[in-house]
Amino acid sequence: MYKDFQEHLKAELQSIRDAGLYKEERVITSAQQAAIKVKPGKDVLNFCANNYLGLANNPQLIEAAKKALDTHGYGMASVRFICGTGDLQKQLEEKISEFFGTEDTILYTSCFDANGGVFEPLLDENDAIISDALNHASIIDGVRLCKAQRYRYANANMEELENCLKTAQAQRHRLIVTDGVFSMDGNVAPVDKIYALAEKYNAMVMVDESHSAGVVGHTGRGTTEFFNLRGKVEIITGTLGKSFGGAVGGFTTGKKEIIAMLRQRSRPYLFSNSIPPMVAAAGVKMFEIMGETNDLQDKLHSNTEYFIGRMKAAGFDIKPTQSAICAVMLYDAKLSQDMAARLQEEGIYVTGFYYPVVPKGQARIRVQVSAGHEKEHLDRCIAAFTKVGKELGVLK
Ligand SMILES: *Cc1c(COP(=O)(O)O)cnc(C)c1O
Repeated sequence: MYKDFQEHLKAELQSIRDAGLYKEERVITSAQQAAIKVKPGKDVLNFCANNYLGLANNPQLIEAAKKALDTHGYGMASVRFICGTGDLQKQLEEKISEFFGTEDTILYTSCFDANGGVFEPLLDENDAIISDALNHASIIDGVRLCKAQRYRYANANMEELENCLKTAQAQRHRLIVTDGVFSMDGNVAPVDKIYALAEKYNAMVMVDESHSAGVVGHTGRGTTEFFNLRGKVEIITGTLGKSFGGAVGGFTTGKKEIIAMLRQRSRPYLFSNSIPPMVAAAGVKMFEIMGETNDLQDKLHSNTEYFIGRMKAAGFDIKPTQSAICAVMLYDAKLSQDMAARLQEEGIYVTGFYYPVVPKGQARIRVQVSAGHEKEHLDRCIAAFTKVGKELGVLK
């Protein structure tokens, strides 16, 4: 029965390989941190994790998770509204609202689920969703699940957004949705301008802070801190899988009626398990730490500034960025792969991206700076880039 389909898949897989687009997984055998071990036993410095605050292997979070295993057990074995809501999950929701200055929060098992479950319960065919062309795949999928009229504007293009808003006056409600930081370039969405247009054209705003929470803004509260819009935008989504410890979990936070409706109708919340108590407990601890000190954000910001300054001084072409994402532009696809491979030999773990992940002719290596990096790690990375860059003719 399987034979025809098997042949079909084999041919498809081969064509992916032939196009040079086959994704291999590289196996890490240590904890996720600045210095890691990858198979078959090589020590490398990690510059391609979303571990922006270096919390993925933080002893205080591990301690909190272990304690919760003893007090609250391993799993919830239920969706939230039947019997999967624990005190730790409720506490975590409160901490998230406090952190972002929002009214209420609902947890999901991922931000992919948060985005998948946010549009359909709130909007229908009478409404409009206006979306940045570079928004994350989970936003695109979430929008597909919703019957609202769809509009799309080129990345951060406010003229196009304004045109969409004019046309969308024909609909009942309008929601503009954007990533806070775009993951391939590191640019911050112009949420100030988006918010001003939303006011002018009677629209709501949703920001996905997955790459910006913990990173952007003096205290890492994300784009609403960066643009002085704390508590203003209607909907924020985000992940616990990047800056915030890197384990698993997502959330939607914002206006209380919106969150209340999601608790009634959001399908990934109603029909999927709750995050485990140990993850909730570590999350609570994490937000407590952030409430007490800004040390990690300060270190991330100074690390990023140092790294980008030195890379530019070395002669690299760096995309303008306001986050911890540093796109080293190489333009040529093969060069991006060769350079990433050579860097790994030099003990620097990075990833090269090329079409279709980024536009044609825009290949690059994306470096992600972390508060978990020490100055010595950054210097080794810059030295390796410089050495390999000269070798491959990227630097003169
Ligand atoms: C990583 C990411 C997600 C997905 O987060 P998960 O919690 O890993 O599912 C969603 N949106 C954006 C913008 C992201 O960068």
